[in-house]
Amino acid sequence: MKDSQSVGDTPPEEFRKQLHELADWIADFREHIEELRVAPDDKPGAISAQLPAQAPEEGEPFGKILDDINRLIIPGMAHWSHPMFLGYFGWTTTAPGILGEIISAPLNVNAMTWRTCPAATELESVVINWIRQWVGLPRDFDGVVYDTASVGIMHALAVAREEASPSTRKDGLIDRDLPRFRVYTSDQAHNAAEKAAIALGIGKDNVRRVPSDGEFQMEMSILRKAITEDRQSGFKPIAVVATAGTTSTASVDPIPELARLCREEEMWLHIDAAYGGGFAILPEFKWIAEGWSDADSVIINPHKSLFVPLDFSVLYVRDLERLRRVFTLAPPDVLRGDTMEAARNYMDYGIQLGRRFRALKAWVIFRSLGREGIASRLRESVRLAQVLADWIKSDNRFKLVAPVSMGVVCFRFVRAVVPTRRGDAGPGSPTPATEERLDQLNSEIVERINASGRAYLTQTKLRGRTVMRIGLGNVLTTEEHLRKAWEIILETASEL
Ligand SMILES: *Cc1c(COP(=O)(O)O)cnc(C)c1O
Repeated sequence: MKDSQSVGDTPPEEFRKQLHELADWIADFREHIEELRVAPDDKPGAISAQLPAQAPEEGEPFGKILDDINRLIIPGMAHWSHPMFLGYFGWTTTAPGILGEIISAPLNVNAMTWRTCPAATELESVVINWIRQWVGLPRDFDGVVYDTASVGIMHALAVAREEASPSTRKDGLIDRDLPRFRVYTSDQAHNAAEKAAIALGIGKDNVRRVPSDGEFQMEMSILRKAITEDRQSGFKPIAVVATAGTTSTASVDPIPELARLCREEEMWLHIDAAYGGGFAILPEFKWIAEGWSDADSVIINPHKSLFVPLDFSVLYVRDLERLRRVFTLAPPDVLRGDTMEAARNYMDYGIQLGRRFRALKAWVIFRSLGREGIASRLRESVRLAQVLADWIKSDNRFKLVAPVSMGVVCFRFVRAVVPTRRGDAGPGSPTPATEERLDQLNSEIVERINASGRAYLTQTKLRGRTVMRIGLGNVLTTEEHLRKAWEIILETASEL
C-alpha cells in the first residue's frame, strides 16, 4: 500500500472502486438529506478541535477519509441543500448540477487563454451568450465568468474609473491632482460596492448610500440632489450601482430612470442583478430587465437563481473591449506562444490568470433543464413565497414588512405582550411589547429555530428593525416543508 502510493496515481482498478463507492455516497446523501439536522448547534472551534492540527506525514486510505467526512464534517455543516434550509436566497442543489461538477473534476484544465483549453474558452462564450439571450440583453453586451458578483463589480468599477480618469491603469492615483470620485448606490444595496471602492483606491466613504423609499427602491430625487451637491463640492460622480433584487427584500431600483440620469450625467451605470437577474428569463418578470440595455454593465449570479452550482457569476459589459483594454497586458513570456491566434483569452478580462472550467457545469445544467425547466422551477419558488405571504397576512401576530418579491419574504412577529406580574391574576390588559423588545424576539425566534436543527432562516434589519426572512428557491422544498417551517415559527414564537 505504502509503496504503491509513493509515486504516481491510484491504480485504475482501485480508483474505479472508490468512484463507485463515492457515487453511492452522493446518491445516499441526496436521498437522505432530510434526515440530517439542517445546521449544527456548535460553538466556533468545535470541529477543528476534533481534527489533528498536525498535517499528515503518511498517506491514508480513502475509506478512512470518507469515514471522517461522515463522522465529523457532515454533522458540522449548515446544509444549504436541505429542503428546510430557507436562509439567504433559498439555495438549491440539483442532480444535473452535481453531475456537471463531477465531470469538471477529472478535466481540471486552466482556461487562461484560448490555447490552454479551446473548449473551456468557447463553451464559456456559448453559455454567456445563452444567458444574455434568456434575460434579453442586446447583442452589444458580452461577458466574462468570475467566481462571484463581488469580484465582478470591482472589475466594472475599475473600467468606470478608467473612463472617468484615463490612464489611471497606467499611472495610478497618487500625485495626479485627480478629483475625488463618487459612486452612488441605495441603502439597500450590497456592500460589494464599498469593497470595490476600497480595492480601487476610490475609498469606501466615497460610496454614497442613497435612501430608499417605502418599497425599498432608490429615491431618485435624493440621488439627483446628492449628485448635484457633490459636483458643487468638487467631487466627480463616476457611477451608479443599481440593484435588481436587493439582498434583504429583493426590491428592484427604478432602472430606466437611473439609465436616463446616468446618460445625462455621463456616469457609468452598473446593475447588480446577482439574484434578480435569473428571474428575467420569465416573461412575467421581464420588467426587471427594463433599462438594462442602456446600462454599462450587468452582474448576474447564475449560482443564485439559475441553478448553476456555486461559484458562477457573469459580468456583462456593453462593448466588452472596454473591460479588456483595462486589464490586458503584454502576455508573460511563457504564454506568448499561446496568444498568437486572434482568439479570446479570458485572462485579459480581469485580475485572475488561472481560471477553472466553470462553463461546463452551467452547460450541463442548462441543457438538462432547458429554459422551460428553469422557468417552471423559478415559478414554483415564486408561488411558495406567495403561499407563505398569505399565511403571514392571515395571522395577526405577524406582519409582512416588505412587498414579496421573487422568492423572498420578510416578516416580523409583532404581537408579543409583556407578561403581567406573577400572581397578578384577573383580566388586566397586558402591555404590548416595545419595538426594541420585538427586535429581540424576532432575532431570538430565528436563533432558536436555527439552533434546533429543524429549519434554517435568516434575520435582517429593515428601517432599523429586526425582521425574519425566508428565501424560497431550493428544488427540494415543497409546500409541505414550508408548512412545517411555518408551524415551527408559530410554535417558537408562542414559547417566547
Ligand atoms: C449575493 C449578492 C451579492 C454578492 O454576491 P457574491 O457572488 O457572493 O459576491 C451582491 N449583490 C447582491 C444583490 C447579492 O444578492
